[in-house]
Amino acid sequence: MAASAIQLSTFGALPCAQCGTELQRPAWSEPVNERQVRHLWNCRDCGYVFETMVFFCTEADAVSAPPLAA
Ligand SMILES: [Zn+2]
Repeated sequence: MAASAIQLSTFGALPCAQCGTELQRPAWSEPVNERQVRHLWNCRDCGYVFETMVFFCTEADAVSAPPLAA
């Protein structure tokens, strides 16, 4: 199964998309705007580099979001 170069993720540890090694923290993070942060991950085991985008929710989003379960 091919892994996407860009994945959605919450901040925190996540497995390397190539070898599955758990990465504890991104090698680099930079804000895209006030609601988005880009994390660059670099796996020490296999050298795979990929990035994730984190989207922060505002209170307005939380209020307007539909309920998860009926
Ligand atoms: Zn890896």
